[in-house]
Amino acid sequence: MRIELENLEGGKGDFAHVYQPDDLNPVDERISLTAPATVTGKVRLAGNEVFVNGHVDTRAQVECDRCLKPVELPVDADFALEYITGSAYASSEGAELTEAEMSVSVFDGEAIDVDEIVKEQILLAVPTRMLCREDCKGICPECGTDRNTGDCSCVTNDIDPRWAALKNLT
Ligand SMILES: [Zn+2]
Ligand SMILES: [Zn+2]
Repeated sequence: MRIELENLEGGKGDFAHVYQPDDLNPVDERISLTAPATVTGKVRLAGNEVFVNGHVDTRAQVECDRCLKPVELPVDADFALEYITGSAYASSEGAELTEAEMSVSVFDGEAIDVDEIVKEQILLAVPTRMLCREDCKGICPECGTDRNTGDCSCVTNDIDPRWAALKNLT
């Protein structure tokens, strides 16, 4: 969904959309959606700037970092974004950018791409490291056995944490 700024009455408007998972999948190489994504928000124009704020709600799935099992998590994110047209951005170049200004996105001045906003909010909401559970034992690097469900007889070079502690004493 794109919001054409020239269609905004009085320089502002509300938007709402429901994406089916397949509309956005894959969000990136590790994240996919398992439920529809609902986005609601408001757009406000002020000179060369556009302010967009709203909310994204969905469920995302990623692989556990250790055992590769799918892990689902809710996405429930508020966002407040600021856009500035390319020409206005270029004229402000050279001016020292504050941290707040760094989060400003540059756009073509014609439309806001809501699909991109929703994808970005999902990416921000999913942690870069994800475990199916705190103490996931992972997969044996030798034979591929899921160590959460069974032991294998492989000898690996993992140092027993108790011995590692002793080693640090000497
Ligand atoms: Zn796991
Ligand atoms: Zn093994």
